[in-house]
Amino acid sequence: VSLPVGTLLRHYLAARLRFRGLRGDALIRHQDRLGRAAVEFARARAPYYRDLFAGRPASDWRRFPTTDKAAMMAHFDTYNTAGVTREEAQAVALRAEADRDFSPTLRGLTVGLSSGTSGHRGLFLVSDAERAAWAGVVLARVLPALPPSGYRVAFFLRSDSNLYGGLRGRRIDFRYFDLMTPLPEAVAALNDLQPDILAGPPRLLGYLAAARRRGDLRIRPVKVVSFAEVLEPEDRERIAGAFDRPVHQAYQCTEGLLALTCPEVSLHVQEDVVAFQTEALPGDAERVTPIVTDLYRRVQPMIRHRMNDVLVMASKPCACGSAFRVIERIEGRCDDVCEFPDAEGRLRPFFPDTIRRMVLLTPGIADYQAVQEAPGRLRVHVEPAGDAPFDGVTAALRENVERTLAHYGCRAVGVEVERGLPSLDPRAKRRRVIRREAA
Ligand SMILES: [Zn+2]
Repeated sequence: VSLPVGTLLRHYLAARLRFRGLRGDALIRHQDRLGRAAVEFARARAPYYRDLFAGRPASDWRRFPTTDKAAMMAHFDTYNTAGVTREEAQAVALRAEADRDFSPTLRGLTVGLSSGTSGHRGLFLVSDAERAAWAGVVLARVLPALPPSGYRVAFFLRSDSNLYGGLRGRRIDFRYFDLMTPLPEAVAALNDLQPDILAGPPRLLGYLAAARRRGDLRIRPVKVVSFAEVLEPEDRERIAGAFDRPVHQAYQCTEGLLALTCPEVSLHVQEDVVAFQTEALPGDAERVTPIVTDLYRRVQPMIRHRMNDVLVMASKPCACGSAFRVIERIEGRCDDVCEFPDAEGRLRPFFPDTIRRMVLLTPGIADYQAVQEAPGRLRVHVEPAGDAPFDGVTAALRENVERTLAHYGCRAVGVEVERGLPSLDPRAKRRRVIRREAA
């Protein structure tokens, strides 16, 4: 894979300095300068943005109208600045996925399908320079100081593009694995590679943690990084325990980088790369949803892009010394907020994190998925742990759900418990709490 190495190094070095040094007014000025440039570029070349931001001074970009993934997909042709149509991008991406060959590009641009539930997959376009900038920032912040012996990195991801590719140099061996690789094969390859850094979605890291406990997997990475899915507390503990390392995290959206953990394992917003604005969720003092402006992307600009995630921001600065804000928790998606009726029959919101905790209060559950298809109802798919009797788990789970809801003055109309987890496409994102319309 040919990445512009000069661009990568420049971003790598600059990113190191900015993380420690950029704060206060200097950070605002840095964002303002790049934000204005991003707006001017998008307005000059993407008709969608020209119309959306018409008649406003670029300096006012933090108050511009918002956009989102649905708008991005609906207006794909005029949303990008390279004149690429949705049809041609989709054709390249789907062909690549079918052939499992992610080298083809479209007029020099990488095309990919972001993960997501079927029908909600985003199409993205990035240039080589943008990929190099991305890699430079990630390497600067994810890799500990480079030891003289160099690094071996094993990077697992759903192959949907040649976005990440591989890098192999004298000091760094960056090996990429397809998430579709059968586990025994992946374990053998990892035993052979002996990576210093292991990165993948939490679901995959969970499988590898189990293999590590069984003794099949014999690697001792110095750093374990989770990305692409929400890292839930129970997975984090399981993975950290197996590898005897804290689990680091990268938080991304449609292949944009939003937040990474520092040496203190705090998830810092990458404020030099994205302007991250937050909006309070109605009726909640703590939870927010982000509006993101990517300060560097040009091919497919992301300006005032409203995301669907529910976050809780930390109230104190991190001990590592960086002034970049810290995300305390990623609770899930706004779409997955469930509803239960109170005594007067009014529906109250229950955030995915609350549902998660009420399920996990129950002992004897190895894994689960909670689905709400109508307000007041909940279906919980349960995989019992070891020899826990399913009937006992079911009764205890029902009781916990009723008790938690009662604590908030609410009740359930119906709770179903089913044995076994629904099968999941290995390429889809895992969500343990889901709200959707009944099929
Ligand atoms: Zn920190």
